[in-house]
Amino acid sequence: VEALVDAIVHTGETCDSGLVVLIEAGRVVDLLPPHRVPAGVVRHSLQGDHLAPGFIDAQVNGGGGALFNQTPSVAALGVIAAAHRRGGTTGFLPTIISDQRPVRQAALAAVAAALRPGGVPGVLGLHLEGPHLNPERRGIHPAAVLGPPAEADLQLATGLRVGVTLVTLAPEVVGVAVIRRLAAAGVRVALGHSAAAYDQALAGFAAGATGVTHLYNAMSPLGSREPGLVGAALDQPEVWCGIIADGHHVHDAALRLAWRAKPVGRLFLVSDAMPPVGSEISTFTLGEVPITVEGGRCVDAEGRLAGSAIDLAAAVRHCVRRLGIPLDEALRMASLYPARFLGLAPERGLIVPGAVADLVRFDEALTVREVWVSGCRHSSEGARR
Ligand code: ZN
Repeated sequence: VEALVDAIVHTGETCDSGLVVLIEAGRVVDLLPPHRVPAGVVRHSLQGDHLAPGFIDAQVNGGGGALFNQTPSVAALGVIAAAHRRGGTTGFLPTIISDQRPVRQAALAAVAAALRPGGVPGVLGLHLEGPHLNPERRGIHPAAVLGPPAEADLQLATGLRVGVTLVTLAPEVVGVAVIRRLAAAGVRVALGHSAAAYDQALAGFAAGATGVTHLYNAMSPLGSREPGLVGAALDQPEVWCGIIADGHHVHDAALRLAWRAKPVGRLFLVSDAMPPVGSEISTFTLGEVPITVEGGRCVDAEGRLAGSAIDLAAAVRHCVRRLGIPLDEALRMASLYPARFLGLAPERGLIVPGAVADLVRFDEALTVREVWVSGCRHSSEGARR
């Protein structure tokens, strides 16, 4: 048993500076006032810092210099997980950008291994971003691998027996029957990289898609007579919207509009992080394409955005400092809401008795000091103590 004391505790529901969080065997077992902490319990002082549910990132392409597409292995997942822990992320979906089937198969095997006991702490499942996307809205995804799914692709997408599988697809490319089949198999479906008309987007949601991937980016925009996928996602109250709040992918005005348009709880933060996150590197290769970090952005030779250079802590800082979103709400956008989207709440995303002890400690400047993953403490350098 360990007692986390002297913290401002953001439980996901309330904020309380008079609470001690007790963790045992990887779980939160109690929240209680200091005088009720049992004698003999090891106390760990957070020195007045903040404690919140660990961040949950539904879209992580890489980190620590590793790109999951390039090295779809358990070892790479370990590197990526450690890099993102420095940004407060305690749970994430490794994300495969549109690629050949063998790469996706290797990724699935790596995630399955990472999810086994003694695997990689923090891995929650797999995000297949493509390849069933619209070439018109492909962004950085290679055109050569895009297309509608074959039976083998659907077998693959439904092949992970544990954890969460999230598939990003374009409804106008796959059709509603495929969405129905994936949803019926327990796969979370998000629409994205899509030129869907408003009606096609609605049909996708009716068939079982529950969210959109990086709202605004790589999707049919909101027009007056054709609201597109952006309009459908903003207007449909139940639809979850992941968004990249790095100050580059989405204009702050568009971010604020989304925040006001969506019901509380349906807008959440993703990093869409690339290998430079949590590392010193400033160049990498995506397939054959050289990508450079310039001014906080990952871009190809034509200046096209290729994922982001942020972690979720940076996205939370952007929401608080640039958009004026209250800290508690920005924290929920990085943990509770993605947990709900992925079907992981209330076990994750909240500090409540019974929840997994996935926690983040940060100071007034929103700099991450420590994280706990299933009760194991890691310093901000990513080393286990
Ligand atoms: Zn994308």
